[in-house]
Amino acid sequence: MQDEATTALTLDKQPCRLLPGVGPKLADTLAKCQLHVIQDLLFHLPFRYQDRTKLYALRQLRPGMEALIQGQIISTHIMPTRAKPQLLCQIHDGTASVYIRFFHFYPAQKQQLQIGATFYAFGEVKWGSMGLEFVHPEYRIGAPLPASADGCLTPVYPSTEGLSQLQLRKLTGHALDLLHQGQVLTELIPSALLKTQGFPSLAEALQTVHRPTPKTDIASLLAGTHPAQQRLALEELISEQLSLQVFRAQTREALAPAFAMQTNLHQALLNNLPFSLTSAQMRVLDDIAYDLQLAKPMLRLVQGDVGSGKTLVAILTLLAAIAAGWQGALMAPTEILAEQHYQAAIRLLTPLNIKVVCLFGSLGSKARREALAAIADGSAALIVGTHALFQTEVNYAKLGLVVIDEQHRFGVHQRLALRQKGLGAGVHPHQLIMTATPIPRTLAMTAFADLDHSIIDELPPGRTPIVTAVVPNHRRDDVLARVAAVVAEGRQAYWVCTLIEESDALFAQAAEAVLIDLQRKAPDLRFALVHGRQSANEKAEVMGAFKQAQIDVLVATTVIEVGVDVPNASLMVIENPERLGLAQLHQLRGRVGRGAHASHCVLLYQAPLSQEAEERLALMRQHHDGFALAEADLRLRGPGEVLGTKQTGLVDYKIADLSRDAALIPLAQTIAEELSTYYPSNVPLLIQRWRQHKLQYGQVG
Ligand code: ADP
Ligand code: MG
Repeated sequence: MQDEATTALTLDKQPCRLLPGVGPKLADTLAKCQLHVIQDLLFHLPFRYQDRTKLYALRQLRPGMEALIQGQIISTHIMPTRAKPQLLCQIHDGTASVYIRFFHFYPAQKQQLQIGATFYAFGEVKWGSMGLEFVHPEYRIGAPLPASADGCLTPVYPSTEGLSQLQLRKLTGHALDLLHQGQVLTELIPSALLKTQGFPSLAEALQTVHRPTPKTDIASLLAGTHPAQQRLALEELISEQLSLQVFRAQTREALAPAFAMQTNLHQALLNNLPFSLTSAQMRVLDDIAYDLQLAKPMLRLVQGDVGSGKTLVAILTLLAAIAAGWQGALMAPTEILAEQHYQAAIRLLTPLNIKVVCLFGSLGSKARREALAAIADGSAALIVGTHALFQTEVNYAKLGLVVIDEQHRFGVHQRLALRQKGLGAGVHPHQLIMTATPIPRTLAMTAFADLDHSIIDELPPGRTPIVTAVVPNHRRDDVLARVAAVVAEGRQAYWVCTLIEESDALFAQAAEAVLIDLQRKAPDLRFALVHGRQSANEKAEVMGAFKQAQIDVLVATTVIEVGVDVPNASLMVIENPERLGLAQLHQLRGRVGRGAHASHCVLLYQAPLSQEAEERLALMRQHHDGFALAEADLRLRGPGEVLGTKQTGLVDYKIADLSRDAALIPLAQTIAEELSTYYPSNVPLLIQRWRQHKLQYGQVG
């Protein structure tokens, strides 16, 4: 029975409380899962399905599969174990037998599992000590399990404690019933915009995804490619695009100082260079120049493969702010990299009488005080450092532009936080983000869609591609001989150590042990060590000596992953590369191949390799191009891993899957644009429906 008030409201206005069986307590639990209104239940989509449509013969079972089975009980025992007795029951169906194991049980349960009774169960097949087994499956004696006979896949919902699958199935069932009784769920995407033919209506799509019927194509549903799922994934991606548009628009309402890129200072700097800019660098600088003269905050991502010359682009960009009398900040993720940028900035800007200061976490207190003073009184024109640059006690006199280097690991949230910082005098600083790890196209259009993009798609002339070899650890001595040969030719080498543990202390130890071993085997070579446990000064000293070729082989941990630039180094050995992802390996490898000499990378692996690791190392040998590797990485590991953290904020989809649904993204983008032009009132409704609530949309609608 529905009263007037409920029928008049669309499902996005009716609280879940109105559904049968939902009391205050359940309503509370639902609210914790962001399920507030009935529409939320409809959009609480199954994240997978159980296939209970097929009864498996026990002979067909394989570990890892979920299966519905049936058999006669042939034995039931209580097994004494050191910890707690277990109940073990064996069943047989004429083809084979399996065990059913219970770690917790009641005495009555043993009574119930009578020899000869028919046992029906659904659960995951595992390898146990006695063969294949089910542990605590869902089961019944003497009668089939409920959902087994109707020929449909069973939805499995994201859930939380106090909210069972059964409850969620009931609740979504009620919500679907209302939908079919003609209660209103507004189509927010007019059908004229849904250009793709063959998509079901929203209501049909929801019905299919929540309650597949025997006619539903099981294979496509399990693969996530059913038109009903694609219809919903498209809407979710549209909603995400809209969120990002709103976010961009908010940022763009802000003011920023306008800067010019063709100043006398720029001319002077370029005249001092021993080379000219590549055409890719010039093109990207043009994009930046356009942004900077707009008096709106620039938000631009520059992608450029390792060695493509991003540092120079950064310095020229910062110079625009400096030339106009503002301050620029250049932020790097590690002290080593910040130190290198600092040196590069000093080299390029000191001849132009520009004051550069650095700010690291490990700076001595006197140096730090002086730096802070120079930042606050405006005498420092360029400030280079780590994230220490954005601590609260750092006050900028007049911050106009921020460059963040190698920042692919930071998601939307950190970018948000950074945009707030430096908000002084009512203007936002411009922001340029530079990354060497290419963002795959799909991520560029989603997780990074709040930024404009430019690509430096060309390396400075005269570079030869790095040749990569994959070598097992037992040929370590051959590899060391190769290092010696490279050094004999006047070149230098890196020897990179990796460890599974993410502990600086262990890293350092492992690297020290390797250093001692290498030094013993090759006493004529000059080795040095750099790792994350050293002070900034120590690191800077070692890096400096390596740069001046006073060291032949730099034994390092992955601290040198990003940005380190020593063109004379032409060989890189990476130990245990199987422990690293493709992006990280590519970053590391990019430390060589920066000069005119042919460069090599040796991936010195520990046999035996897992199949996935073998595949990854093969990809490294095949591809020089970071973009190809990033796409492969996305396929192998998924977006959360590719971005380096799970906190990207936008990879938590209800139904879309960036690798699977990449083809939908351009369509989602187009439709999102049309929606905001022609149906602006639908925009906040769509955003709310899909609850892209992780970003701050407080000001929207
Ligand atoms: P990345 O893009 O990896 O940060 P860098 O900025 O460290 O690359 O540049 C790599 C090397 O290329 C540096 O030694 C730099 O001086 C040099 N370089 C940059 N631009 C050019 C250019 N246009 N022509 C020649 N060498 C260049
Ligand atoms: Mg760099």
